[in-house]
Amino acid sequence: MNTSHRGTAATERATEQKVVDPTTEKVIATVPLASAAETDAAVARAAAAFPDWQETPPAERARLLRALADRIDAHAEDLAQLEVRNAGHPIGQARWEAGNARDVFTYFAAAPERATGRQIPVPGGWSVTFAEPLGVVGVIVPWNFPMPVLSWGVAPALAAGNTVIVKPAELTPLTALRIGGLAREAGLPEGVLQILPGAGPVAGDRLVRHPDVAKIVFTGSNRVGKGVMAAAAEDLTRVTLELGGKSANIVFEDADLEKAAAAAPMAAFDNAGQDCCARSRLLVQEDVYERFLELLRPAVEGITVGDPRDPGTAMGPLISAAQRDRVAAYTDGATVAFQGSAPQGPGFWFPPTVLATQDPAEPAFREEIFGPVLSVLPFETEADAVRIANDTEFGLAGSVWTRDIGRALRVSRTVRAGNLSVNSHSAVRYWTPFGGMGQSGIGRELGPDALDAFTETKTVFLSDDT
Ligand code: NAD
Repeated sequence: MNTSHRGTAATERATEQKVVDPTTEKVIATVPLASAAETDAAVARAAAAFPDWQETPPAERARLLRALADRIDAHAEDLAQLEVRNAGHPIGQARWEAGNARDVFTYFAAAPERATGRQIPVPGGWSVTFAEPLGVVGVIVPWNFPMPVLSWGVAPALAAGNTVIVKPAELTPLTALRIGGLAREAGLPEGVLQILPGAGPVAGDRLVRHPDVAKIVFTGSNRVGKGVMAAAAEDLTRVTLELGGKSANIVFEDADLEKAAAAAPMAAFDNAGQDCCARSRLLVQEDVYERFLELLRPAVEGITVGDPRDPGTAMGPLISAAQRDRVAAYTDGATVAFQGSAPQGPGFWFPPTVLATQDPAEPAFREEIFGPVLSVLPFETEADAVRIANDTEFGLAGSVWTRDIGRALRVSRTVRAGNLSVNSHSAVRYWTPFGGMGQSGIGRELGPDALDAFTETKTVFLSDDT
């Protein structure tokens, strides 16, 4: 195996990460960080495991993925509680996340036995295609949704016959490590799925540049994602990039305003706004703007922010002090329309905040804040709404509220984003494709075609001239 590296930026740095509970600010675990050499060793193990995994009969690969889904289900409550402590997610949300990981493994467990090719009519014989796995896949995960994002990359990659190395985010490695343990208990052979906690610029960078890694699934910031793509280009390593967003929630005057106002807060403040699909720009038609804000205010002020272990909590803390300070900087000098509450004392708290946008050029209206800050702006016509919604470099998600079905479809088709919802704020659904346009990324995950991103098509011609 070739273990040489071209000009890697990897340098040896911290050897361990203190994992902090964002609700208490206390250290709850210390996790070793993989060095570049340890990353190479993980790649070597994954490469060694690949031929057998690729040759494992589809029904057996399917059975092992179902067994992993069953293990996740059996430990869903432990996994949820672990995420509450590691990421500060409210328990109800954390239970959904563990259930989502289980469902994604279950869904893709059906894929190995259905990974069919095609027979294409040709003269002089027969042409058939095969979906061949790529080899070793690296899945680089951010801190905002550790379990779901892991499963969206890992499940289809394994189903297609690849071996996988997950590099969790430095701040949130605990549920990934637990899922790695459950995979071994479920019977996945050694080296088929490895969890490699490490620093992005060390282990992450090494994975991206390693010549024996065939594909990187990266979810994270735009800045790092571009660097990943540039580094991957050296070897033509395949990439899927799931990056940031600044999605619009467009409310027309004919919408069910009560329903739209009740739903708007959590479309922006779910996971304390640390959501790539957050509808953080709220565009309201001017005839109903004042009325809508009257309805929105109590909905925002009523959000229960507090102890994430309490099932009644809707919003927990931010992930870190640095993230809280970054979010707070966007509200300095901005016009706060109204604000919810947040606890005092330990924890990285920030209250749900609605800003009345004075100028669509202001940073809070243009940049991904990744915190509980919603910017509101009135618009006049349908054309204005679409123009403002599309006046962004991002294109991940969006919502349209109207009772006019023609308008709903027109606007959904013209807003440049990968995932639109009408009269709802649908979350990512694992049975439909998900991904971004523009600066929100490249490629699609999930849905019936997800294995295409983890396979290469091979065409074989059989001559009839025997
Ligand atoms: P980040 O880019 O800082 O880190 C993401 C991951 O990349 C981490 O595991 C990190 O260790 C790793 N990394 C950092 N430097 C690296 C390097 N040089 N080489 C390889 N890997 C490296 O992002 P974050 O702050 O953890 O997450 C927040 C961002 O993620 C937001 O922008 C958000 O919109 C985005 N996100 C997007 C989606 C989506 O599906 N589109 C989903 C969740 C989050």
